[in-house]
Amino acid sequence: MIASSTRRDDALDRLSQGIARLTSSDAWRSWLRVQARFHSYSFSNAILILGQHPAASRVAGFHTWRRLGRHVLRGQHAIWILAPVRRRVKTGDGPDDAAPVVAGFRPVPVFDIAQTEGEALPEVCTRLVGDDPLGAYDRLVQVAGSIGFTVQEHAFRGEKNGDCAHRTRSIRVATRLAPAHRVKTLAHELAHALLHADAGAERGLKELEAESVAFIVCDALGIQADDWTFGYVAGWAGGGDAAVAAIKAAGTRIQRTAARILAGVEHQSPELAERAGQDDACVSASATHLSECGEQVEL
Ligand SMILES: [Zn+2]
Repeated sequence: MIASSTRRDDALDRLSQGIARLTSSDAWRSWLRVQARFHSYSFSNAILILGQHPAASRVAGFHTWRRLGRHVLRGQHAIWILAPVRRRVKTGDGPDDAAPVVAGFRPVPVFDIAQTEGEALPEVCTRLVGDDPLGAYDRLVQVAGSIGFTVQEHAFRGEKNGDCAHRTRSIRVATRLAPAHRVKTLAHELAHALLHADAGAERGLKELEAESVAFIVCDALGIQADDWTFGYVAGWAGGGDAAVAAIKAAGTRIQRTAARILAGVEHQSPELAERAGQDDACVSASATHLSECGEQVEL
């Protein structure tokens, strides 16, 4: 077996410990402070933003960017969204009997981070830059094929690393990723393919499950994914304690899915399984800092 259940348990423990460490650090607190500056846009505004700037990943108003130590580059065209205009209407005869109501909407200009320059924003996800010397990516492509999914490389606009469509049974992986990160993204999308055919579950839980599976698969294949996974899982789970609790609750499901993917790799390549099973086969996946985690989209 490419990775014993004990080793997979150890990997899951290390994931929880890494998340707890990250989310009690100053880096996490700075990241949270910056996140609080960005609005969560309504669906209609998200459509407006993407219609005008399809690669948009982090959007804020002119003054918010200034407060974050960045400024809008000269000559950039604003992205226009609609902000509600509220006014107070009386709800009774008393002096305090009034409530705000939306009286209309007004256009408001915002800008994507790519239209700005200045201080780097604090980030907690760093893409992997290591190699894939064991050829794990090609094996994972074959695993995808064995469950009826095609894998294509795609030049996504913006920060997206990959996606998985159940309707067309297709997975896409961003072409610009380093080999180690491509392995991790493909393992992540494979987990979505296996676990999330039903639209039901909440997005944060889906991302936590898929990325936890990818972490275990990468660990078994000699790729250290800490620099991306800890921040990604904690970000989607809403913090360290919530992430650790959710990983514990979904532990069996995560383990089973990782085991299934790794069994597929072993079936495709017994030689790779043997090499990856050796501790000294670990490949150091060093990391480079990102200026942008996007919307943490790895879909
Ligand atoms: Zn995902």
